[in-house]
Amino acid sequence: MSAAKFEEIGQALRENQRFAVLSHVRPDGDALGSQLALGLSLKKLDKEVQIWNEDGMLEKYSFLPQAELLIKPPGEPEDVDVIVALDTAIQNRLGTTLQAVRSSKLCINIDHHPSNPGYGDLVHIDPKAPATGQILFELIKSQKLPIDSAIAENLYVAISTDTGSFQYPNTTARTFEIAAELVRAGVDIGRVSQLIYENYPRRRVELLRDLLGTMRFEANDRVASFSLSLGMAGKLGILPEDNEGLIDHLRAIRGVVVAVFFEELPDGKVRVSMRSKSEKVNVCAICEKFGGGGHVLAAGARVRGSLAEVEKRILEEVRDVVSRSS
Ligand code: AMP
Ligand code: MN
Ligand code: MN
Repeated sequence: MSAAKFEEIGQALRENQRFAVLSHVRPDGDALGSQLALGLSLKKLDKEVQIWNEDGMLEKYSFLPQAELLIKPPGEPEDVDVIVALDTAIQNRLGTTLQAVRSSKLCINIDHHPSNPGYGDLVHIDPKAPATGQILFELIKSQKLPIDSAIAENLYVAISTDTGSFQYPNTTARTFEIAAELVRAGVDIGRVSQLIYENYPRRRVELLRDLLGTMRFEANDRVASFSLSLGMAGKLGILPEDNEGLIDHLRAIRGVVVAVFFEELPDGKVRVSMRSKSEKVNVCAICEKFGGGGHVLAAGARVRGSLAEVEKRILEEVRDVVSRSS
């Protein structure tokens, strides 16, 4: 993958004035934390910074320092010098934010998804990095960009959430060193951990109860899945963000190699989320067959069809791959 050096990116950040810092739809902690961290650092350089996400700030991440700076894109397009796309594997996952940019001179693409094709002018993709937040920390450090406790906390949340709280195999010694540096820069671990992991709305756990009612196993209990229908979502009044991480309950089962979560969407598609516990089972490759992407051990896709149809097609493919892997 073509890799723009941090020096080139650092220079582009210093030399330009107007920035749009963007990330993917259905954002996660890495997307929102990374957007705020880079946006705040640029603001400290006295840049004009727009931090836009199609979905705006999620309620569950509204504790992030300066969360109010992250907004939905405006209806009236604006001119900027530089677009920075963070943590976004395919350009179209930037959603409507691109339509809010009337003109730009440069697009910088910083990401850790191996499936990222490298769109943009200055591209830095590091598939070994467990989070885009980790790449941003290295960029900020090497280019001596501003960092303060608010930036540190945003980076910490980005890294903590994308590593499953420092548990996934792409978590390295360097990740812990960075976490230590972020703590030194002012992150209050106890406080921030509670805000991320012990502050769920009750409806999220009620949703888990209903999801577990649909749980099924196949391929000798090596594949586990559950499904969220529109009816279930309506009954519980859940928000799209409520189900982030629930798939981990399936992954956590002994013997399960692949966990799959199906979510019926109002647009006639199904959002498929997949997790693998074995490097031998590449769920990114499975999801790419259905137009999606992601990482070897965590991937997703949006597939047209009814819930039942999509479940059948996807589970057939997963069963095949899992059977061939053993
Ligand atoms: P999720 O299951 O939504 O947490 O996504 C897991 C991983 O797959 C993330 O790294 C996403 O960026 C990626 N991913 C999810 N959905 C899609 C999609 N529709 N297209 C491409 N990549 C996706
Ligand atoms: Mn993400
Ligand atoms: Mn990420």
